[in-house]
Amino acid sequence: MEIIYDLVVIGGGISTSTFISNILKKGFKGKIAIVEAGRGLGGRCSTRYSQKDKKLALNHGCPNFNVKYSLKNPSLNEFIRELLDKNLIKNLENSCFELDDNYKFSENYKNYFYFGNVYTSTCNMSKLVENLINLYNTENQIDFYFETLIVKLNFYSKLWNIISNKNKKIVGKFLVCSSNLLLHKRSLEILNVSEIPLRKAINKKNIKIDEIIKLTNKQEYIKRINFLIFTKKNYKLEGIFDKDIIHFIFNDKSQEEIGFERIIFQKQFDNSLGIVIHTRHMESTINTYEREGKEFLYQFISKKLNNFLISNYVTSKNLLFDDISKMNWRASQPIGEGIPERLQICEEYNIGFCGDWFQIEGYGSVLGAIFSGLKLSNKFIEFY
Ligand SMILES: Cc1cc2nc3c(=O)[nH]c(=O)nc-3n(C[C@H](O)[C@H](O)[C@H](O)COP(=O)(O)OP(=O)(O)OC[C@H]3O[C@@H](n4cnc5c(N)ncnc54)[C@H](O)[C@@H]3O)c2cc1C
Repeated sequence: MEIIYDLVVIGGGISTSTFISNILKKGFKGKIAIVEAGRGLGGRCSTRYSQKDKKLALNHGCPNFNVKYSLKNPSLNEFIRELLDKNLIKNLENSCFELDDNYKFSENYKNYFYFGNVYTSTCNMSKLVENLINLYNTENQIDFYFETLIVKLNFYSKLWNIISNKNKKIVGKFLVCSSNLLLHKRSLEILNVSEIPLRKAINKKNIKIDEIIKLTNKQEYIKRINFLIFTKKNYKLEGIFDKDIIHFIFNDKSQEEIGFERIIFQKQFDNSLGIVIHTRHMESTINTYEREGKEFLYQFISKKLNNFLISNYVTSKNLLFDDISKMNWRASQPIGEGIPERLQICEEYNIGFCGDWFQIEGYGSVLGAIFSGLKLSNKFIEFY
């Protein structure tokens, strides 16, 4: 018999996990489905495990988040405090170094991801999202559907039918979209559909739905290309850099010079180092090298990385790499105007939205995603 869920959420990122943990904490007893296109939870806060050894892990998207003003907001403040108390996150104090205009390391950050208190997961970013979802899921209220890419939405007789590219149908009374893909024109190409899915589902005039679709379609996205690297075993960095996690951050001037946005080291269980290089403005250079072959590109990146590390006394000898791969983030962060918070829920159609694309503190970052999840959970509980 077909299950009718009380709540279906599309997307398994940090905004969803915040939303879910908060509605469960507030006593929501309904049956929930979380539907995610990827293989696991995390979204842009996800972790990649090495093919060679699943214990080797790298945060290949967002590695940290920061909170500058939240003390003014009691619910956000309480949420962060709970994550700290439950040992799900830790402070990244003394682990981040920004290169200033004179190419000297400084803890005076200009990069907006490092203002205020900077946190990361105590384990890895995917696990943070997973642990958060399961924090209050003590009665197994949630069914997870992974590798399920939703391409079609229908709203009939007060029920949402969501349909995947493999024709899997999931039915629910209330729908939450944690990504704006199903509202945005980029869905036409990415999902290979002829009409924006939410527009197709709700084709009658509705002030809130019309406005959210219109505004979402004005948003654009920052592209990033990241390189994921595992070194051979038994490496450690020199002196103050010999820590479990180290972030090197490049300001605009130094990015122009080296091309990298950040270099992040994560010590692995077997004494190898995991390294993620974030880039924002290197697409054409990367494409040029890649045309010569992947090996050529990886040699170029490895050489650039070792040159930086040795000339700044981070290591004394070249690091040798075991594994290097590339990750393309076509939509790493939204840019342009955020969506007003009043459009987060449309009662007439039993639908809500959350994610970093709302115009609230932390727009375009984990903080915004968390905040939107908290705000939607309050609205949802009030409505339900
Ligand atoms: C490389 C990189 C570095 C970053 N660095 C930082 C940083 O240092 N600090 C910071 O605060 N933020 C950073 N960010 C931004 C941060 O990752 C995001 O703001 C945050 O993770 C957004 O969470 P979310 O839940 O709103 O969305 P997402 O994590 O994108 O979750 C949405 C989920 O929905 C799924 N989905 C979408 N459409 C469908 C569909 N049709 N069917 C099924 N599933 C679907 C997606 O697969 C995704 O998992 C970074 C992002 C990237 C990519």
